[in-house]
Amino acid sequence: MYCTSRFGQQVPIWIDPSVHGMIGLSTTGPNPSIQIDPIFFNQIPPLTAQFWFLHECAHQVVGGDETEADCFAVRNLRNLERFDISLRHIQRP
Ligand SMILES: [Zn+2]
Repeated sequence: MYCTSRFGQQVPIWIDPSVHGMIGLSTTGPNPSIQIDPIFFNQIPPLTAQFWFLHECAHQVVGGDETEADCFAVRNLRNLERFDISLRHIQRP
């Protein structure tokens, strides 16, 4: 897994039990990072884990907007051909 910020930076990814209860934490700025909760990620199916990883990565691209982060994650899963449903029903009006 990797994540590139909107500025083209490779974002370090840390497996960090201290973020337990938050799924993950995406810190933007000059020293961006992603901390993910290993307890949460070990309890969910792989595709769900990919979604949440991409959601946290999305914050490096779209900022703090949770809906945009969800859409970024779904688009990237679709582009990775890991999301086998039609997206026409969840596109913006
Ligand atoms: Zn979020």
